[in-house]
Amino acid sequence: KLHNTILELKGNIRVFCRVRPIIHDMDSNDINRPVLSYPTSIESLGRGIDLTNNAQMYSFTFDKVFNHEASQEDVFEEISQLIQSALDGYKVCIFAYGQTGSGKTYTMMGNTEFPEQKGLIPRSLEQIFQTSQSLQAQGWKYKMQASMLEIYNETIRDLLSPGRPCSVDASGGLSKQYTIKHDANGNTVVTDLTIVDVCSIKEVSFLLQLAAQSRSVGRTQMNEQSSRSHFVFTLRIFGVNESTEQQVEGVLNLIDLAGSERLAKSGSTGDRLKETQAINKSLSALSDVIFSIAKKDDYVPFRNSKLTYLLQPCLGGDSKTLMFVNVSPEASSVGESLCSLRFAARVN
Ligand code: ADP
Ligand code: MG
Repeated sequence: KLHNTILELKGNIRVFCRVRPIIHDMDSNDINRPVLSYPTSIESLGRGIDLTNNAQMYSFTFDKVFNHEASQEDVFEEISQLIQSALDGYKVCIFAYGQTGSGKTYTMMGNTEFPEQKGLIPRSLEQIFQTSQSLQAQGWKYKMQASMLEIYNETIRDLLSPGRPCSVDASGGLSKQYTIKHDANGNTVVTDLTIVDVCSIKEVSFLLQLAAQSRSVGRTQMNEQSSRSHFVFTLRIFGVNESTEQQVEGVLNLIDLAGSERLAKSGSTGDRLKETQAINKSLSALSDVIFSIAKKDDYVPFRNSKLTYLLQPCLGGDSKTLMFVNVSPEASSVGESLCSLRFAARVN
């Protein structure tokens, strides 16, 4: 019965672990033997995962563990109900946590050139638009709004606004501020953030492309910025039933977190050090928030980072949170993988 108590304690927080396959071009040649194994024989989905380091074994249990054979479809099957709940009026957050190269972006966005490799953002959107259409027959009308931002060095950047990195606009006036506020209804408002009404998967796909472009422009300017920033996709869903006059308001936040790897402290100086400190600060703030929500603390330290303050209305309460911890399977990543699994075990 211990198992039930744990589930009760953590309420609406779930942790899924996903291990990517070994990629031969990427994982350095002779040391790419896997260090992760599964205590029970599983095809692609189980609950336990073991990590071996220096002849010592560390065992972890999560709500679900996907091994390297799990397809994008297998993963989506396990979250489609959670996506559905955003249409039913819940606030949902799905995070991908892990070191750079562990499969966060593959899990969230995937490779959109190949339908079977699409990640959970495009799959979720397809499901939402399809379901909302089929609910029309029962009198439901939905309105959706999308926004996309990244948080880099504790600064918000609007990925749907071309003028985004400037602090002073062309006329010499102060440009966009992107300040986070919470309105009277308990919703987050980011001042000046671009919010787009979307009616179809085509429209959102276009916006996702635009956001990806904005991110990659940043990357050439600021070394590999995309792995050093948090990407937040938000879809607000407003539903009205014209026959019953029922109303629902749901939010779906899909978040590709900055790489969790620890940079050698001695080697980091200047911008790099500042980046690392900002990432460490926000990832530990996220862990603190999720941990204190799980413990049902009276005080939850939402204000300790931009990310947690932004997502405050969608964390805790009756909202639903899912954390993917992405791990690389090979020996060269064992230290980072252990850190990631420990991080996830804390919030689990
Ligand atoms: P991250 O976003 O965490 O830095 P990526 O998602 O970019 O990592 O993944 C690194 C590489 O591994 C990419 O080439 C990606 O396509 C590949 N990859 C990650 N996860 C999987 C998976 N489950 N199956 C196949 N390839 C994967
Ligand atoms: Mg990535």
